[in-house]
Amino acid sequence: MTELINLYTLTQPELAELLAQWNLPRFRAKQVWAWLYDNAVGSFDEMTDLPTNLRERLKAEATLGTLTTHAERSSKDGTLKRLYALPDSQLIESVLMPYDDHRRTACISTQAGCAMGCTFCATGQMGFARHLSAAEIVEQAVRFAQILRAEGDRLSNVVLMGMGEPFHNYDASVEAIRRLMSDLGIGARHITVSTVGLVPQILRFADEGLQVKLAISLHAATDDERATLLPINKRYPLADLLDACRTYIEKTGRRVTFEWASIAGKNDTAEQAHTLGELLQGVLAHVNLIPLNPTGGYDGRPSDPEATKRFIEILGGYGVSATVRVRRGIDIDAGCGQLKASVVRRQRAADTVLPSDIG
Ligand code: SAH
Ligand code: SF4
Repeated sequence: MTELINLYTLTQPELAELLAQWNLPRFRAKQVWAWLYDNAVGSFDEMTDLPTNLRERLKAEATLGTLTTHAERSSKDGTLKRLYALPDSQLIESVLMPYDDHRRTACISTQAGCAMGCTFCATGQMGFARHLSAAEIVEQAVRFAQILRAEGDRLSNVVLMGMGEPFHNYDASVEAIRRLMSDLGIGARHITVSTVGLVPQILRFADEGLQVKLAISLHAATDDERATLLPINKRYPLADLLDACRTYIEKTGRRVTFEWASIAGKNDTAEQAHTLGELLQGVLAHVNLIPLNPTGGYDGRPSDPEATKRFIEILGGYGVSATVRVRRGIDIDAGCGQLKASVVRRQRAADTVLPSDIG
């Protein structure tokens, strides 16, 4: 049997080429493309304006993506978290977050696992399995677009902040970003890519000509402290990282967001706030504070609101803007890598947990 063609791996010209080989008129490729991205349907049977024989041929020779839902949880706050199995049984997570201002944000993964080993991160604690392809990255957003469309809504934002380090899988991540814009119609300014701070890739990204948002996971303002949380700091220390950020800002004219997972008593002290204020003074930047999501392999606790408030005030004294990001889906392990970690734990405990048992 010949291998099925995953339609989400094809560009628009490649799809047109495929259907031309099947001796179909050009407009059929346009129709199929619209079903893949504008209408985002989940099955060939829903492609109602295609003739039955074309639908049958598509069913026989093609697939609509390769992700299968392995577990799913929805939170009281409307957050939906999915664990997908890939054809080689790797598990990846995606989260859909509805906000009150009508934003519908998909948080998607770029790798199965992660090689960066950040101590507080559930994904870092599980290690690296493999890179995702651009199609596997894009399909996660398409799946949420399908759900929203069925509800008469649309996906508005995408953040590459799920499992994995996007700049360690640079080419596939950048291709996915371009396809989210061109194929799924997500505006560049509504896409955010977050990196642990890989300096060469930040410099490369500055030359891509993309208007997307760049977030840098900072989490500490001195090399010693940052290296204990993010081992990559030994390779790319703060001075080099900040230099790369300055170059990025100069070349793109765009502001950089610095992510700060606030950990009680560790990086939420007044001293850290002053050091960070000095580090970022004069840089076109914004600091996003995210109270730590506790994970099994790290014993830190999230900052309390008082400490966070004081931290923001101190930064303000240096002219550095900062806000707290509300933690979403906290009741459903919605932090990076946490659903997979908890499903795997339960599978080990019970050995026969069915996806339907989860949640
Ligand atoms: N690898 C990229 C993107 C994925 S992680 C990166 O590190 O930037 C997305 C964000 O979640 C990062 O800022 C990361 O530091 C943060 N994060 C990971 N684990 C967390 C936790 N337990 N609590 C709060 N933030 C966490
Ligand atoms: Fe990887 Fe980001 Fe987690 Fe660090 S925080 S281990 S870079 S996914």
